[in-house]
Amino acid sequence: MSSSLFTTPIVKLQGVSSKKAEELHALGISSVGGLIEHYPFRYEDYRIRELSEVKDGEKITVQGTIAAMPSLQRYGGKSRLICRITVDGMLLTAVWFNRAFLQEQLTPGRDIIVSGKWEQRRRHITVADSEFPDRGASKSGTLQPVYSIGGTITQAYIRKAIDKALTQFGALIPEILPAEIVSKHGLIPRREAIMRIHRPENSHEGQEARRRMVYEELFLFQLKLQAYRATHHKQQVGIVHPVNNDDIRGFVGTLPFSLTDSQKQVINEILHDMKQPFMMNRLLQGDVGAGKTVVAAVALFATVKAGHQGALMVPTEILAEQHARSLGKMFEPLGITVGLLTGSMTDRKRRDILASLQMGLLDILVGTHALIQEDVYFRSLGLVVTDEQHRFGVNQRSILRRKGMSPDVLTMTATPIPRTLAITVFGDMDVSTLRERPRGRLPIRTFWVKHEMMDRVLGFIRKEAEAGRQTFFICPLIEESEKLDVQNAIDLHMQLHQSLPELSVGLLHGRMSAAEKEQTMGAFAAGATNVLVSTTVIEVGVDVPNATLMIIMDADRFGLSQLHQLRGRVGRGAHQSYCILIADPKSENGQERMKAMTDTDDGFEISRRDLELRGPGEFFGTKQSGMPEFRLANLLNDFAVLEQAREDAAELTATESFWSAQSYQPLRDYLQREAGEQSEPLD
Ligand code: ADP
Ligand code: MG
Repeated sequence: MSSSLFTTPIVKLQGVSSKKAEELHALGISSVGGLIEHYPFRYEDYRIRELSEVKDGEKITVQGTIAAMPSLQRYGGKSRLICRITVDGMLLTAVWFNRAFLQEQLTPGRDIIVSGKWEQRRRHITVADSEFPDRGASKSGTLQPVYSIGGTITQAYIRKAIDKALTQFGALIPEILPAEIVSKHGLIPRREAIMRIHRPENSHEGQEARRRMVYEELFLFQLKLQAYRATHHKQQVGIVHPVNNDDIRGFVGTLPFSLTDSQKQVINEILHDMKQPFMMNRLLQGDVGAGKTVVAAVALFATVKAGHQGALMVPTEILAEQHARSLGKMFEPLGITVGLLTGSMTDRKRRDILASLQMGLLDILVGTHALIQEDVYFRSLGLVVTDEQHRFGVNQRSILRRKGMSPDVLTMTATPIPRTLAITVFGDMDVSTLRERPRGRLPIRTFWVKHEMMDRVLGFIRKEAEAGRQTFFICPLIEESEKLDVQNAIDLHMQLHQSLPELSVGLLHGRMSAAEKEQTMGAFAAGATNVLVSTTVIEVGVDVPNATLMIIMDADRFGLSQLHQLRGRVGRGAHQSYCILIADPKSENGQERMKAMTDTDDGFEISRRDLELRGPGEFFGTKQSGMPEFRLANLLNDFAVLEQAREDAAELTATESFWSAQSYQPLRDYLQREAGEQSEPLD
């Protein structure tokens, strides 16, 4: 039954010629089922309203009586038809343009319904549509669906065609959702929902219909993902890591702090995956400063304890060096060796590292993405961790697979993407979220100031320095010109050097040699410099807990997520931290970003606003990001439904009966139909 509507060709509908069928086909509609699922993208409101509720300039539909003979004016090839009508005892003027033929139908005393723009002052309606109740008004009082159309297919034509399809075949529309889910969420039946979407009687019914169909759309989407996982995921045989809890506890005991509950929880999720004979594919998301590194360290520890090697891949050399340093500190006392591999190393050093890696003398390798792309051979690679995933364009999993390796993969990001979006975008990844920051952290206080306040900003830097704290000063960003960014940094460094002679001011930018960068960063991390002037090379990952002041010059040049990342370089210790955004109130868009920054330092809220400001397409960079397009659902507003649908789909696909019971046949048919249409499922 369910597929029969999809195999019934559109010409089977009364009044659809083969010529029109072809044009419908061009709109992606080839079957009666397809036509029925061609939903309107909005509605034209012809509901009759009281004049008193309508504001000036709004579109209204009113019912009245023709009060006098109309008058017709012609000018050029055009015409204007004017007629007085009474509505609710009020006399108003209706005006039609270029509808002279209506003149003889406008007889005094006859009832009429007119829709159009209301001009309150002149009590005037510019009529877009009119109907006579004595002829059976059909639009009036309704919401009329508006469909996407093209070619010679007009709104009127497609409305009629869909209407016919519903009348002729509506009774055959099958339910697709399992009965238990329909009743669990109090959804209206599918047939009714589809009918109402095309012919909404009132807005409440329209909403119920939409709720049902949005749920269905998101549920089917999730079902596709989950079913794909259930059938493919498990075939990806991975490494079994036997994990000894005492070992883990012992390692955690060597850390200078105790883990937060949130850290413990995500570590459990990760270790659970690592024990399984399947390839782990998990995303760890947590706001800047939430403490992701130590989670990665525990996972790396577990792989080494199980006799394998671990790799930690990061987007910048500065970050690679920092991680190598801090992991070294944690692991070397335990006899676990940590190496560093970056693009700017000497050949000799590189050869040494690669040799000890291949021989298994090196347990953990930290580096930029060259790490897994080039001729790097591990003796036994057990785990790859990618930090700041959003900075990598490539999908490292497919690279690894091409190299014939199947290590567990842990991906970390602080973008941070609202969890539900992460689920959609990363498709078949499992997601862990660090929800809390380490205890005792104070919210970062953020200020937005104008350039004229530079003197006070300098005073602030001095004050922090006197208290023993340090400052990052970020230079303006010149889009696509690293050279100008560098020049800006050099100029600003010079300026601060002169204005703050008593302080030591460092300089960091992308054109410095690796050794210079390391030295500058090292001096700042050790507290030897008070202020670090830098380009965005320190945007991600850099961790200097004693730094408490982040100043961003020309902050309106930066995107919202980027600003939040930069701000995340402070507030990493127990001291009160501050972020100062220097930006003039110019562009409107810039204002929204500054406002969002001063309103909140919650990364999830920031990314929600960023998404709102930029829209999903740009937010995720490219169209290739795999953001699915939905017909009715809107990811910004339908988050909660997506979460629910995901849970339901996961629960269902985990049952045996889903794959065999008769009652799930419509869903299995759906999956089969989809599999036929999609060449390659999500990677
Ligand atoms: P991010 O999630 O941004 O990568 P990091 O892992 O760099 O954050 O951690 C930020 C800072 O917080 C580091 O200095 C780290 O040592 C510290 N930290 C991490 N976890 C804890 C904890 N449980 N208690 C106290 N400090 C912690
Ligand atoms: Mg980090």
